[in-house]
Amino acid sequence: MGYKIGEVISFLEKLAPPAYQESYDNATLITGNRNWDLTGIICSLDCTEEVIQEAISAGANMVVAHHPIVFKGLKSLTGKNYVERTVIKAIKHDIAIYAIHTNLDHVAHGVNKRISDRLGLLNTKILQPKKQLLNKLVFFVPEEHKNKVLDAVYEAGAGQIGEYKDCSFQVNGMGTFTPSEDANPFLGQRGAPQYEAEIRAEVILPAFLSNKIISAMKKAHPYEEVAFYLSALENENQEVGAGMVGELEDPMTAEEFLDYLKEKMNLKIVKHTALVKEKIKKVAVCGGAGIFLLGDAKRKEADVFITADVKYHEFFDADGSLILCDIGHYESEIFTKELLGELLSQNFPNIALYLTKVVTNPTSYR
Ligand SMILES: [Zn+2]
Repeated sequence: MGYKIGEVISFLEKLAPPAYQESYDNATLITGNRNWDLTGIICSLDCTEEVIQEAISAGANMVVAHHPIVFKGLKSLTGKNYVERTVIKAIKHDIAIYAIHTNLDHVAHGVNKRISDRLGLLNTKILQPKKQLLNKLVFFVPEEHKNKVLDAVYEAGAGQIGEYKDCSFQVNGMGTFTPSEDANPFLGQRGAPQYEAEIRAEVILPAFLSNKIISAMKKAHPYEEVAFYLSALENENQEVGAGMVGELEDPMTAEEFLDYLKEKMNLKIVKHTALVKEKIKKVAVCGGAGIFLLGDAKRKEADVFITADVKYHEFFDADGSLILCDIGHYESEIFTKELLGELLSQNFPNIALYLTKVVTNPTSYR
């Protein structure tokens, strides 16, 4: 029995929930159908016509790409540019294109972790954790049913804080209610006030899983009507956000570090600001266009910030606080295809899986 395209997507969505993508993004299934039988996968940074051709030649009907080929609505589809030609070619040949973009940037085991690992960074943390991604659920349950309900909400994704799972806070109390004449009470009599020893339990949960978790809670709960509060939290989610910061095991001089960076990231060239740091220990990274994190890199007292797509005037903003390095967008993210390949091969060991051989970098150096 083979796999469906949808099974691959479900796996990738667990890894990098689509809810964690930026509003401008289009990380989703762009062409194809979840119900198709999977014949093989090509992993790529970009999805271009050449990559689609590679898939056709390999007999693989799915391309998993970091960058979405389509960002905005297409009002016509005539092949007038490379985006339309790529989409048309994929549709004509029944190729599914799936993009896993800023959602993969934003998870702790994603694009920036891969860069950090290549640089041997330790104690890595998200550079700019995101807010408003967490909710709090408070519910009330009779003591003897609390484990069943808690297990159900944990199973649905609640109660995870960093490396700790099954996290809750519980207090004992007294619940009161009077069932109406039309009620079907699990405990007590219609029309009679009831006092019941209950637990008030609180759990934290990813906001995007709220509906799923509330359904699981209600299903496991014995009461006809479940009393609960769901509220949004302002807390940062330390596990989700942009960029990453970590430390080198042994500090290096700035010159040594730049050579090391070139070696580890396969760079011909690195564009950087003045070498204002004697020793490099703390390193901030962001694959792709990450200059919006410069302030975070400074606040975290990084010695160097490595990103791409930095404009001339933005280099000035380093302002002597750190060494700002532009290593190129493609160069900063090319190892994402290896990351995708590894994750997919671990979970789907018997599928035909390829890393694209197409160099999709639209720029080069001489
Ligand atoms: Zn990118």
